[in-house]
Amino acid sequence: MRLPPSSDGASEQIINKQNMADIGSSTNNNEEIISENTEKMDIAEPETKKRKVDVPEKNAEYKLEERLNGILCCAVCLDLPPQAVFQCTNGHLMCASCMAHLLADSRLKDETATCPNCRCEISKSLCIRNLAVEKAISELPATCQYCSKLLPRSQLAHHEHNQCLDRCVLFTRTI
Ligand SMILES: [Zn+2]
Ligand SMILES: [Zn+2]
Ligand SMILES: [Zn+2]
Repeated sequence: MRLPPSSDGASEQIINKQNMADIGSSTNNNEEIISENTEKMDIAEPETKKRKVDVPEKNAEYKLEERLNGILCCAVCLDLPPQAVFQCTNGHLMCASCMAHLLADSRLKDETATCPNCRCEISKSLCIRNLAVEKAISELPATCQYCSKLLPRSQLAHHEHNQCLDRCVLFTRTI
């Protein structure tokens, strides 16, 4: 790569670099910096090109959400737990209501309640809440049922009840 003469002002970047560096011995340094940069770019370029071709940005986002839904869902009902999330001693996730169902069911049958994934014993004292999962779920996007806007789950109820203009329109129409 040829270095353009700094006097013609073709590249502001180069001039800036020259100003920041020691001006007296700058030409060689700049050549070094530039060749370093181009080497790095050569390595990085195919990767970024590949990514752009394989997964467009929007699609990648969508896929991540889909994947997280699958990872953070309840082992019993396969939905994203709406409130408290519990886990068995091996880390399998359950919503509070599904765990209550499992415990009540086994009490009725006089059996030990077990995790539907790994069959380890579950009880109120053995299972613990998973706050990180609860918070992660509250940040996942959900769609407003009235205006179809995407919002973080934690804000959905507030939006639907207090903020959604489409809901207000529906509401007044039905009256
Ligand atoms: Zn559940
Ligand atoms: Zn389990
Ligand atoms: Zn809305």
